[in-house]
Amino acid sequence: MSAAKAAAAGQLALFGEAMPPRPGPVAVPMPDGQPYIIRRLLSAANHKQAKGVGYRSVGLILTPRATARAGITTCRFATPGCAASCFADYDRLAWPQVKRAAVARTRLLARDPAAFRALLHADLARELAQAAATPLVARLNVVSDVAWEREFPGLFADFPSVRFMDYTKDISRVLGPQRPANYHLTFSRSESNEADCLRALRAGFNVTVVFRRPPFPATFWGYPVVDGDRDDLPFLDPAPYVVGLKAKGVGGRREATGFVLMPDQDRAARPRCDPSTARAVRA
Ligand code: SF4
Repeated sequence: MSAAKAAAAGQLALFGEAMPPRPGPVAVPMPDGQPYIIRRLLSAANHKQAKGVGYRSVGLILTPRATARAGITTCRFATPGCAASCFADYDRLAWPQVKRAAVARTRLLARDPAAFRALLHADLARELAQAAATPLVARLNVVSDVAWEREFPGLFADFPSVRFMDYTKDISRVLGPQRPANYHLTFSRSESNEADCLRALRAGFNVTVVFRRPPFPATFWGYPVVDGDRDDLPFLDPAPYVVGLKAKGVGGRREATGFVLMPDQDRAARPRCDPSTARAVRA
């Protein structure tokens, strides 16, 4: 039976076959030989996204770095420090069933990008319909750093009302002219990219900095600091700002490469950031 007939009959589309006209579940072979059935790619809002009152948020969880045995590296600019503190090993993202689903999605992206794109398109259309009048926010790199504007450039024009947003360590993505207008990027500091952080700030973009714990400093590198943990709506933040984030999980608390900074690491970092001020600036 062809993939199209299988889809029409409500059966699984087989991994590697021609894409069905309406994307149905896709069976992805996993490293252990068992297939993983993917019915959708987008997940409901994570804890931080859920704080974005007034918005409907969805996220795409892949597997970071090169851990999926999928033939691709989703974080080309990952460093030892960020890998040790990665959100992928925190909270529910660390659950084995969540990790297995992330590996399956990553393998599908690597092996059959057309099928992946069809599923993603269908998910976004469904989420947009369910959101109705509520603005839809889509974060396609919850724990990855894929240049979606290069991977699927037409996706952003297909959904002009969706607010796409991500964080990236690829300075060319932030400064490059090819980013769609409805795709907001925030540059992310690591222990080895501070020159690029300053380039991004001087160009008018925001930069995340991970601190051991709050309260965050009021300024960092001479730029005001906004509390990035209060929600996941960075396109509302003023710019250029440093976006302070608290180190997550055991890895973040123990990290020692310089990726996680102490709040007073910058001599100019006085007095403390007042979250209510940050909110007022943003309102
Ligand atoms: S680049 Fe981001 S998603 Fe990738 S390993 Fe580092 S912290 Fe995790």
